[in-house]
Amino acid sequence: MSCREAQELLHGYADGELDLVRNLEMERHFRECPACASDYERLRRMREAMSGSVPYFQPPAGLERRLRSRLRAAAPAKRSIHWQWAAIAAALVLTVAGVWRVALMSRHPDSVEILAAEAVSSHVRSLMAAHLTDVPSSDRHTVKPWFSGKLDFSPTVGDFPSQGFTLAGGRLDYLDGRPVAALVYQRRQHVINLFVWPAPGRLNSETSTTDRQGYHVLHWTKAHMNYWAVSDLNGRELTEFAELVRKTG
Ligand SMILES: [Zn+2]
Repeated sequence: MSCREAQELLHGYADGELDLVRNLEMERHFRECPACASDYERLRRMREAMSGSVPYFQPPAGLERRLRSRLRAAAPAKRSIHWQWAAIAAALVLTVAGVWRVALMSRHPDSVEILAAEAVSSHVRSLMAAHLTDVPSSDRHTVKPWFSGKLDFSPTVGDFPSQGFTLAGGRLDYLDGRPVAALVYQRRQHVINLFVWPAPGRLNSETSTTDRQGYHVLHWTKAHMNYWAVSDLNGRELTEFAELVRKTG
């Protein structure tokens, strides 16, 4: 620390307004620099002398009473103070409600985006890890009961061989922070993962489509259930598949 800096901070140091690091720097400078140290000593003694000799002011008798009555006259009535507080409280409630609504509205697209990404990575993982199914079966009367005891809901399992979508089996997966049913379908050489889990309180929605990393992702809710279909199948045929599932769900 230079002498100039020390001089600038001298009053702040004397008033105890500096942060810890600055305080330590000042103390080190005073040890190394007798000139600044004696400046500080002079300032300190002057302040001490002033605080000791400042006269106390004795208020004239009756001043307190006169001040109080003036304050009472100037202050608005109690009732209007209450109304002011009520107005402030109401404004706060409205503000909080507004922020909450904005937060809810902006949260929704984000969570949908995150879920779409999760669904695609689950799909890719199922293809790579040679772990496409836990229960390989084209019989929905085998696949559906397999989930009971493993999930707290029972997914509707459809099979559409005459439309060219054949059931390949089922698998337990993990999406949206919970275990979900993954139903696996085959269309020619293409695999479709259909993820199903409960959506309590959610109304039926239109099917929304997104593309991610070369995969088509279809999402809808029906009868309080979430449906996410992921495949590298072309969009038209995957939409056809989604329509079939919607009819059975
Ligand atoms: Zn100095």
